[in-house]
Amino acid sequence: MIFKSPSWVPKLPPPPDSIPVSEFILNEKYGRRSLKDSRDPYTCGLTGKSYSTEQIRARRDDLAKSLREELGWQVSSGSAYEKVGVIFCLNTIDLMMISWAIHRLNGISSPANAAYSPSELAFQLKTSRAKCIFTCSALLPTAVEAAKIAGVPEHAIYLCPVSDPSPKAAQIPSGMKNLEELISRGKGLLDLEDQIWSAEQGKIQTAFICYSSGTSGLPKGVEISHFNIISNVLQRTTFEAPWRKQHTNDATEVVMGCLPFSHIYGLVLICHTSTYRGDQVIVLPKFDLVNFLKSIEGFKIYELFVVPPIVVLMTKNLEVLRNYDLSSVKFLYTGAAPLGKESVMAMQSVYPDWQVCQAYGLTESATVVSSTSRADNWHGSSGSLLPGAEVRIVSADGKDIEEYDSPGELWVKAPSVVIGYLDNEKATKETFVEDQHGRWLKTGDEGEMRVCPASGNEHVWIVDRIKELIKVNGNQVAPAELEGHLLSHPYVSDCAVISIPNEVSGEAPKAYVVKSNGVGKTVDEEAAKREIMEHVKKHKTKYKWVQEIEFIDTIPKSPSGKILRRILRDSDRAQRKKQ
Ligand code: AMP
Repeated sequence: MIFKSPSWVPKLPPPPDSIPVSEFILNEKYGRRSLKDSRDPYTCGLTGKSYSTEQIRARRDDLAKSLREELGWQVSSGSAYEKVGVIFCLNTIDLMMISWAIHRLNGISSPANAAYSPSELAFQLKTSRAKCIFTCSALLPTAVEAAKIAGVPEHAIYLCPVSDPSPKAAQIPSGMKNLEELISRGKGLLDLEDQIWSAEQGKIQTAFICYSSGTSGLPKGVEISHFNIISNVLQRTTFEAPWRKQHTNDATEVVMGCLPFSHIYGLVLICHTSTYRGDQVIVLPKFDLVNFLKSIEGFKIYELFVVPPIVVLMTKNLEVLRNYDLSSVKFLYTGAAPLGKESVMAMQSVYPDWQVCQAYGLTESATVVSSTSRADNWHGSSGSLLPGAEVRIVSADGKDIEEYDSPGELWVKAPSVVIGYLDNEKATKETFVEDQHGRWLKTGDEGEMRVCPASGNEHVWIVDRIKELIKVNGNQVAPAELEGHLLSHPYVSDCAVISIPNEVSGEAPKAYVVKSNGVGKTVDEEAAKREIMEHVKKHKTKYKWVQEIEFIDTIPKSPSGKILRRILRDSDRAQRKKQ
């Protein structure tokens, strides 16, 4: 059975398929809110600095002109894959503009997680074929080291101004260019050629390469088209239109922008969608509780975009929350990981008039597939399907599950389902499958459809995860990446990594290790565990750090050598239940 958006949701208008995403987002011609009724799209939550939509458009074009000179990128020549820029930067009010400037030259933007270590960033630089990096002073040492590893020249590293919360801003090498210099130089340069796209070009032209490990293996570059982003913006604004009208008379909103804009949630749902709606995103370089609360109070933020671990943190710090006037908040929206019902209850017992809604989505669906809403909220549920999104629930033996309350793998069809994985045909073919009903994304999530007793509408419930992925604070951790790294330690002769629950971050990695000969004889087992953990800490970003190590005799594997993580996960769950 194919499940669709409920009948109360308006139909999706056809998403434009022959324009770059920023034309759609910034241009009234394509249905965005009129500029005179819009707020400034991005305002710094620390300094109050912001640009109007017109200023952003002018900065985009001036930066593009400058990059044309700097890098030799031309609008109408060269493949998009030869014009890739990695954005490795804390959140700033300029981040979307930089991506849109790269798009203006028919290039591709690849946002990188600001928490990455040099080797993690170098992996993204190499695999995305990046030619330049936009970064900020706090991240500059990592960017420089990664650029060296990946062969990106230092003169192609550009500095962006960020209201930098880090006390130790780096020494800036002389001659390193910054964003303002590039933009002011661009003003004096010849105008850009028009960007003339053929019909459906937006469907095949990659706008962003974001990273996700998908259902298995190492992180992969996910090719997200301009059409994918435009579609999801339209899907969500169409979905929300009826109750926005009802609850706020369609007023513009002030929303929180503390989540990383490099992750698909920040990129599409917070940044692109809000700008299209004429809303104002209050940008924080990164999440910290005090600045988060101060900016809610200072800017009278209406809607909070957060991840479940932030909700947990808030519920554990109610005495801090009480020091701030949070009365402007009416709406709290979470996604990227499951939100426990208990957290919703705890939050609503203190702030009963906050609507807490949850969305479900993936990098591979260029964000939201389903969402609860003010019209139809059911705690624990991931809500109704957005217009244009369809879902099937498929059993392990490939049969469609027709009944409610019966779990299987969620398969998604939507105009926002991405092009595929860059340079990885095998993973693309395994994840995106075609049949007589169209092209389906196999999500690797276990879900079921349930009927909401209050509204009678069908809701998507995510009940478990089949794929290998671990989500720590909403960030992806690929077990295969950690396993590869652990195996490079002399005390590890084999290993497997699984997800375990964590009260603060939602989940955390646990490693099962088959120890090498000396461990337990010449080296104490506990000391060996500490050394192995240090080995991860030294090379991987904090959210990937292994929380527990358990020694085991053999790693369970299938006859073809595939690690049977489910066996380990089930035994870990059973052990935890007993404790
Ligand atoms: P990412 O590509 O980093 O956004 O990760 C996508 C994955 O996060 C999904 O495949 C799910 O496993 C998980 N996820 C996202 N939203 C939810 C949700 N509402 N409930 C449960 N898991 C979620």
